[in-house]
Amino acid sequence: MLNIYDCLGKTFQCPDCGQNHTLPIKKVTSSDKGIESIVSFLQSIPIEGKSLLLLCDENTCQIAGNQLETELKAEYKVEKLVLKTHGYSKVYAEEYYFPEIRTHSADKDFIVTVGTGSVTDMGKFVGNETGKPVIAFPTAPSMNAYTSGVAAYLANGIKMTTGVKPCTGVLIDTRINSQAPMILIQSGFADSLAKAFANADWKINAILTGEHYCTLPLKITTASEAHYKTHGDKIQARDEATIASLMEGLTMGGFSMVLAGKSAPASGGEHLISHSLDMYAHRNNREVYSYHGLQVGLGVLFSALLFERLQNVSTPLRRTIDYDATITELFGDESPKFKKAFANKKDNIDTFLNHWDELKPVFSRPPSYQEILGYLQKTGCPTRFSEIDVDEALIGFVTQSARYIRDRITLLDIADELGVLEETFQATKSFLV
Ligand SMILES: [Zn+2]
Ligand SMILES: [Zn+2]
Repeated sequence: MLNIYDCLGKTFQCPDCGQNHTLPIKKVTSSDKGIESIVSFLQSIPIEGKSLLLLCDENTCQIAGNQLETELKAEYKVEKLVLKTHGYSKVYAEEYYFPEIRTHSADKDFIVTVGTGSVTDMGKFVGNETGKPVIAFPTAPSMNAYTSGVAAYLANGIKMTTGVKPCTGVLIDTRINSQAPMILIQSGFADSLAKAFANADWKINAILTGEHYCTLPLKITTASEAHYKTHGDKIQARDEATIASLMEGLTMGGFSMVLAGKSAPASGGEHLISHSLDMYAHRNNREVYSYHGLQVGLGVLFSALLFERLQNVSTPLRRTIDYDATITELFGDESPKFKKAFANKKDNIDTFLNHWDELKPVFSRPPSYQEILGYLQKTGCPTRFSEIDVDEALIGFVTQSARYIRDRITLLDIADELGVLEETFQATKSFLV
């Protein structure tokens, strides 16, 4: 099988789909002396220029930012920007921080991000806008966007996922990552379980829209998953090798999105459930319910139940939905933008019964609910929404509204059209709530 690390910084012909894929990210290194090797890592890429912005928040500054600053100052002109919390207990990726990052990076040659999803994505967003290379130094194996070509952030209460240039390099310090807060490690683990589900959703969307689908993204992530998926006990014991494997899985998850040119191989209906929950929290002026990956893990459990239910649909019958009234009821004043998003996919959804024979085999691809439950439990991740403070009414709301927040088609659309979404929720809520 193709070694994906040999493809870094290159355009290559895909052994699976025959098309050309490009991995602009030039170098990903994992070492137990990441901090100490930052200068040689930059020189080996090589990265041009002598001045950089070191972007961190108050936490990650303590964990690695200060030490990295000391190392970097031996060779570079360094300005450290420490993002401060505002209104929430943590720094989240928000438009609010962009002007500050733009101003401080304006006269720099490149940006080094020190942190998890929020800091990394904000660095990638501004780097993309200004054409400056971004180097990521992850402080926890909490999500797969370090190597991805997307950045997620909140803009006017909407969770945006936008395409950006991937980081030029990612330097992983296995020691720092294995000592990260356990909840962040668990979050990355649960997020990584989404891939089989996201790929199934991508296939569903491809069948109904005719967009290109490639099997390579799922292949590379599945190969790395074997080293950590069943070892939740070792993850909880902070075994450095197992956590390094998890990070490798997340690295592959990021690559899979870059290969596809979209987030589809790592983000499907289960992510829409998490995004929908974040948007609900934001609209109600409260902090997000939990970490991205932990929410996604719960979304994965619901997706697993839905896929199992869809496998058992023998005679598919479409119900009548008044989309306009439904979207108005779900989103109130904000409904126009969701109506617009839905209108973009409505025509393709209308064809799903004609494609039923192609769709059906896709429903049995992802792992079962029991399998996912076992992985999550062994790693100590939440397996019920009540563990993250989400009650039955809110689960009902997010599972029903998730399909309307984006214009890509997932199992949530198919299940809702068949009346199976609500039915599955009612039938399984005793172990979801
Ligand atoms: Zn391909
Ligand atoms: Zn995710």
